[in-house]
Amino acid sequence: MERDPLFIHTPRYSQFDYGRDHPLRLFRLKLTVDLMEHYGLLKPPVETIEPPLVEEETLLTYHQPSYLEALRKAEEEGLANPAMGLGTQDNPVFPGVYTLSRLVVGGTLEGTRRALEGRRVFHIGGGMHHAHPERAEGFCYLNDIVIALKEAVNRGARVLYFDIDAHHCDAVQEAFYEDPRVLVVSFHQYGPDFYPGTGSLEETGEGEGRGYNLNLPLDRYTEDETLWWAYEHLLPPLLEAFKPDLLFTQLGVDAHRDDPLTSLFISTHFYERMAQDLASRWHGPWMAVGGGGYDLVNVARIWTLVWGAMVGREVPDTLPQSFLRVSIMEGYDGPNLRDLPGWSGTPQEVPQEVKERVAFLREACPLFQ
Ligand SMILES: [Zn+2]
Repeated sequence: MERDPLFIHTPRYSQFDYGRDHPLRLFRLKLTVDLMEHYGLLKPPVETIEPPLVEEETLLTYHQPSYLEALRKAEEEGLANPAMGLGTQDNPVFPGVYTLSRLVVGGTLEGTRRALEGRRVFHIGGGMHHAHPERAEGFCYLNDIVIALKEAVNRGARVLYFDIDAHHCDAVQEAFYEDPRVLVVSFHQYGPDFYPGTGSLEETGEGEGRGYNLNLPLDRYTEDETLWWAYEHLLPPLLEAFKPDLLFTQLGVDAHRDDPLTSLFISTHFYERMAQDLASRWHGPWMAVGGGGYDLVNVARIWTLVWGAMVGREVPDTLPQSFLRVSIMEGYDGPNLRDLPGWSGTPQEVPQEVKERVAFLREACPLFQ
């Protein structure tokens, strides 16, 4: 019997602000929590806790001391350090930048510990897959994912890490590239000038980790049915063959068709179907974190649908009035929690290139042999 699901969040997240013109708006987290509350998804048996502030010592398991020093100075003195990515357009120095980042790591780390006890956990504030040991990047300052995965591995766990964010999880790949204990699977948009530029099909791991790093690069306008085909041919068989001690999912929502920073054509239906599928197949420890997502209304809708699936609850399609009022200001004019059918575009025949890429990955990974 699974233990009660756990949701990790703090209203403190809303006190921080990347700045007026920054695409990452922390208000999306409050909007999500309000919507989940409306549907009763945070009531018992769901347990809710606040993220603890992680100890600086724990951050040293991944980050360099000089970088942590610079990040602390950024918070205390407002000092930029462009060589370490601090004070750039993507990673501004703002009040509380270090505290916020420590809360994010604390939440994902605590969540992972609790998940390992046999629970399903969601920390929507987590998912900072671009933060590097010595520099901030891609809106990320501290890498909650790598720090939590390192601890899981040190406790003897083998982890299947699945990243559905529209951007490649460059720093996570780098951290476990030679480590077969963390099977990294990432689906992401890939092409000239698309951030971060890593994540090609051929990057499959090295040394003992060879075949344990699987990237599925996606072309612009990839729609639900194609992505679902790829998912079905990779994730369920990998879960079955790898039998991880922990499933860790990064649920970036920026693959959605309406996301302003990306060009994929994924709808709410894919995310919900994927979460339902994982929930029906996987009854072991499951840690989920958020990630990208720059259309606030979509972030709230999709993470609500995913959490509904994780806790096994039907979520009605009608949105509350309070949410609709905010939605209109954000430019969303649909009345429903789910996208209209066909929002992802007309289902096509799965493109031959996608079939070939999936075949390549199945060939590269020893778990398929
Ligand atoms: Zn992203």
